[in-house]
Amino acid sequence: MSQVSDRLAALSPSETLAMSQKSNELKAQGIDVINLSVGEPDFFTPDHIKIAAHKAIDDNFSFYSPVPGYPALRNAIVAKLKKENDLEYKPEQIVCSNGAKQAVCNVILSVVGPGDEVIIPAPYWVSYVEMVKLAEGTNVVVPAGIDQNFKITAAQLEAAITPKTKAIILCSPSNPTGSVYTREELKALADVLAKHAKIVIISDEIYEHINYAGKHESIARFENIRDRVVIINGVSKAYAMTGWRIGWIAAPQWIASACNKLQGQYTSGPNSVAQKASEVAYTGTQDCVETMRKAFERRRDLMVQLGKEIPGFRVNKPEGAFYLFPDCSFYLGKSFNGKKIEDSAGLAMYLLEEGHVACVGGAAFGAPGCIRFSYATSDENLTEAMRRVKVALSKLV
Ligand code: PMP
Ligand code: GLU
Repeated sequence: MSQVSDRLAALSPSETLAMSQKSNELKAQGIDVINLSVGEPDFFTPDHIKIAAHKAIDDNFSFYSPVPGYPALRNAIVAKLKKENDLEYKPEQIVCSNGAKQAVCNVILSVVGPGDEVIIPAPYWVSYVEMVKLAEGTNVVVPAGIDQNFKITAAQLEAAITPKTKAIILCSPSNPTGSVYTREELKALADVLAKHAKIVIISDEIYEHINYAGKHESIARFENIRDRVVIINGVSKAYAMTGWRIGWIAAPQWIASACNKLQGQYTSGPNSVAQKASEVAYTGTQDCVETMRKAFERRRDLMVQLGKEIPGFRVNKPEGAFYLFPDCSFYLGKSFNGKKIEDSAGLAMYLLEEGHVACVGGAAFGAPGCIRFSYATSDENLTEAMRRVKVALSKLV
């Protein structure tokens, strides 16, 4: 008999990681699956960062680090925020964690309690709503469909705010849609939030450097809300370092101190060698970031073109991140060999089993009519994957 707590029983497993695992299992059985499910760069970590990690081992960075990370890494992050984002922070306002995932969860657990409402624009990254559930908060999902380029408006935000609203989680560039809020759009949201002094604004900027629209805009730049914004970022996407597990927050002091306390009882400082590697990611050459961004942009163009060639798909043009998020509702309710595709998860499973392409159904992201393809893989893989998707979909009646 399972004795898990109610809290855990209510939690859904991560669908992005689950689909990736399923794809790996099929591969292990010898099936040639193309994995467009999990979102992680296919590039290797740049050499100068790897060398820094070797050196850290040789220099005996094998002890516990301070809970929020080494001062040298936090100073490097402060310098990055100043140089790239024109934002002033003190090192004490930075807390480094085991990936941006823990950084988000730390903040949610630090500010959200039972009954607190958290506004989450949909489509959203799978883990936000589950983290809010862990904190016993209430998700207030604000939907933004493909017709509004998956971005919420200031009027929608205003309508969602209640006296119980504790926080909002924004993600731009967005996972899963690739949409990027313009400076004007962010300003409109900031002007609404400025009227509600207690709302904490969690701004997930992990895809900052994978942007095809121009320079990254952070909502933290708006003075009228600045002291309530928590920036989430990390090395996973920009520097192809998903497995190193370093993410961080730049936050108002009270939130940074709360996360520090939480992390001190829960996981301690993140991996010491990975911290030294991340320090060099921020202080070393940034050429690798642009090289990878360019490759993602080329693949974005390819995926938009291939996606548009699939009958029944509605495709927008993502301006950042590395996901295509077509509306595939045309295919929901259709059947293969008498078996009905009930929902987007069913469609993703069908594409995996019949087309040998792994992707993720949109329901996990709060968009049941869509499906997510990660295009962080080679042009050849993408071309072949979308050919298979087209063929598999053509068999549905
Ligand atoms: N936020 C978003 C929007 C993401 O896509 C991811 C990647 N899974 C994360 C946070 C977590 O990143 P990390 O790998 O650094 O934990
Ligand atoms: N951000 C990635 C994704 O959305 C990694 C998987 C995860 O952490 O959930 O696929």
